[in-house]
Amino acid sequence: MSAPRLEIALDRLRHNAVTLVGHLSRHGITVTAVSKACLGRPEIVGTWLAAGVTSIGDSRIETLEGLARGGLTAPTLLIRTPMLSQVEQVVAHATSSCNSEPLLIQALAAAAQRQQRRHGVLLMVELGDCREGLLPRDLEAAARLTLSLPSLRLVGIGTNLGCQHGVVPDAANMAELSALANALEARLGIGLELVSGGNSANLPWLAQGGTPGRINHLRLGEALLLGREPLARTAIPGLHTDAFTLVGELIEVKRKPSSPWGKQGLTSFQASAPPPAPDRGLRQRGLLALGVQDMDPADLEPPAGVSIVGASSDHLVVEAERPLRVGEELHFRPGYSALLRAMTSPFVVKRYSGGDRWLTRAAADRWRARSCRTSQG
Ligand SMILES: *Cc1c(COP(=O)(O)O)cnc(C)c1O
Repeated sequence: MSAPRLEIALDRLRHNAVTLVGHLSRHGITVTAVSKACLGRPEIVGTWLAAGVTSIGDSRIETLEGLARGGLTAPTLLIRTPMLSQVEQVVAHATSSCNSEPLLIQALAAAAQRQQRRHGVLLMVELGDCREGLLPRDLEAAARLTLSLPSLRLVGIGTNLGCQHGVVPDAANMAELSALANALEARLGIGLELVSGGNSANLPWLAQGGTPGRINHLRLGEALLLGREPLARTAIPGLHTDAFTLVGELIEVKRKPSSPWGKQGLTSFQASAPPPAPDRGLRQRGLLALGVQDMDPADLEPPAGVSIVGASSDHLVVEAERPLRVGEELHFRPGYSALLRAMTSPFVVKRYSGGDRWLTRAAADRWRARSCRTSQG
């Protein structure tokens, strides 16, 4: 079988999605499934839609465009604020987008008008993680601007925590988002369809008894894919953490000295001198045809009895207590950044399992059902 290879268990992904969608619906929360770490693969997106997520989100308009061209008619959300240079594409291929810049909102409106479409705007508010978002005091003006542009639809407000500075969603910042929604509705005499509380990092807050307040929407990637919350990478009870397996093939196996010899400079991927490697005598080393181009070595869990020594563009070096042999495959568990790269690398073969006929049919049905609902407005 071809390696490197990413094995993807669609039945486990389906279980994760069904479980999360069901759990969150009891809190009045709907889910946009975020496909950026899986490059919007239709097998996965179809699985999620069959499991009941209400829309698909991605950070790249190219991915949403690909899904639309592939026949996806479910609503889509561009979760990164659009580039000025891409507004035409955004309006053509995404139902809605996250926004934090008045200039972009105006450009989207002009593009939507040209294309005779109505584009949804979700206004992002900065609540402490210092990545994207309007400062709360600027929210009302941006909402007024959006409402004044007939080719746009103000879909709601949202926030994103836990990504840039790892700021934890908690009672205080979530209550602030609810209060902002209430204030905006009261001041402008409108109703907001979505109050989007965040991403997978919001799940611990809910699990610890957090009250959703006005929050009725989350954008989930990592929890659906890897069954983990991103703040401490802990497994979420009841979810599969093993839907993805990255398989690499050994191309060299030798007993080698554990300490290099000769004068040392910088290594392929280090900006500073490598730390000294203590002499631990001769070790059994394996070299895999799997590199930084295909995964993130710092975010890869090796199989039992194997440890990762290092990696460069095209090689992963491991040590093992047990015998290894050339041609043998080793199975690794990717974290989010390793998954992102494996999914993106054209050299990593993707192999799906567990996507039975029922699943495919249900996905197709859901695909159609959503299209009716959206075309009715
Ligand atoms: C990546 C991203 C998400 C999904 O994050 P996960 O931690 O994978 O759930 C949600 N919203 C925005 C704006 C994102 O960039």
